[in-house]
Amino acid sequence: METYDVVIMGGAVMGSSTAYFLASNPDFNGAVLVIEKDPTYAQASTSLSAGGIRQQFSNTENILLSQFGAEFIKEINSYLQVDEDDPVNVDFMENGYLFLATEKGMPVLLQNHKTQTAAGAKVQILDQGQLREKFGWLNVDDIVAGSFNFQNSGWFDPHCLTMAFKNKARSLNVTYINDEVVGMERTGEKVTTVKLRSGKMVSGGIFINATGARAASVAEMAGIDDLPVHSRKRFVFLFKCNTPLPDCPLVVDPSGAYFRPEGHNFICGKSPDKDNDPDCEDFYMDYSVFEEELWPILAERVPAFDAIKRISSWAGHYAYNVMDQNAIIGPHPTVSNFIFANGFSGHGLQQSPGVGRGICELVTYGQYRTLDLSCFAFDRFAGNRLYKELNIV
Ligand SMILES: Cc1cc2nc3c(=O)[nH]c(=O)nc-3n(C[C@H](O)[C@H](O)[C@H](O)COP(=O)(O)OP(=O)(O)OC[C@H]3O[C@@H](n4cnc5c(N)ncnc54)[C@H](O)[C@@H]3O)c2cc1C
Repeated sequence: METYDVVIMGGAVMGSSTAYFLASNPDFNGAVLVIEKDPTYAQASTSLSAGGIRQQFSNTENILLSQFGAEFIKEINSYLQVDEDDPVNVDFMENGYLFLATEKGMPVLLQNHKTQTAAGAKVQILDQGQLREKFGWLNVDDIVAGSFNFQNSGWFDPHCLTMAFKNKARSLNVTYINDEVVGMERTGEKVTTVKLRSGKMVSGGIFINATGARAASVAEMAGIDDLPVHSRKRFVFLFKCNTPLPDCPLVVDPSGAYFRPEGHNFICGKSPDKDNDPDCEDFYMDYSVFEEELWPILAERVPAFDAIKRISSWAGHYAYNVMDQNAIIGPHPTVSNFIFANGFSGHGLQQSPGVGRGICELVTYGQYRTLDLSCFAFDRFAGNRLYKELNIV
């Protein structure tokens, strides 16, 4: 049976970031295996994500994680370039994020603004007049103000980032295999072995769960049956609008609907209401979400969106932490060699560099050294120390 010091289950953005940080850390000398059931990543949240990065969160750690994400992406070639003739380009569009608030949303917007500026985020509050002046194509009649994240914020290509992490990790001797984890063996409170779909068994020292929306079922294989991560479906629609919207950022409407440019077109989406958001593992599309719900909101917010044409669409899954909509990072309190990188609730892509770095520190040094991520520990649920993130899109 093959043995590795670290076995990472799931090789999309979180698994590959973790593999890269471990392999590139001179203080870590172990062998790393990444097990990925679908190397095309066709159904991974990473590939199906909207690619956004912003610092408009309500929790300081989320702001700092995303800030590191932006710094990492801007300097990506100093981290991830393998071949000197082939630089990495994740197409970072630093157009910013704009959260709009009516009277009702102002207290939260202002409270978050304080937290964000204290953490060093480049955000400014624009009042109705300033919004009108800056974004003439936007209808702000019902808007009191907006929070504009004017730096380190925008969107990039998620698949490119994953492939760049993976290529670099492989160049640093990380092993990737195409297989599926279907079971685990434990001796006492330690996981010792994973069983794979192919029939192969792999033993290891540390096991990292980076299986996205499937994280709860993978944790169950280790005898952990209370990981509060549920698979929740989200639609993204691509549409064409013939009227250009100069300097368009990613705009989040007070209704929760969002849109942003995608090349010459736009994408949009909206999380369903809490009461209409069942667990779901299928990818079926419901086009009425666009026609009946989203389009009217978009056309009200941007008059030019009255005349748009839907071009395509897709569905993906949030790995949704139903307890507090925040990541779950670090070891299980008793099964201590089983580490979570789970529950990112729709904001994990931008956190992947910071989370990979943090898990690498935990594995290598037994503690966080750069950014303390202990607020995301699993034991917060037992201790009823929930850490609720308010700015979920
Ligand atoms: C529609 C949508 C929009 C989003 N928009 C944003 C955004 O704008 N900004 C942002 O930061 N985040 C966004 N996200 C969230 C973000 O995509 C995720 O948080 C992030 O990609 C999670 O990465 P991951 O590697 O943990 O999970 P995934 O990308 O889901 O990867 C998990 C991997 O594990 C593999 N796997 C699963 N089970 C097994 C098994 N048993 N054995 C082996 N392999 C297994 C899967 O094949 C998959 O490749 C969005 C998500 C969706 C769905």
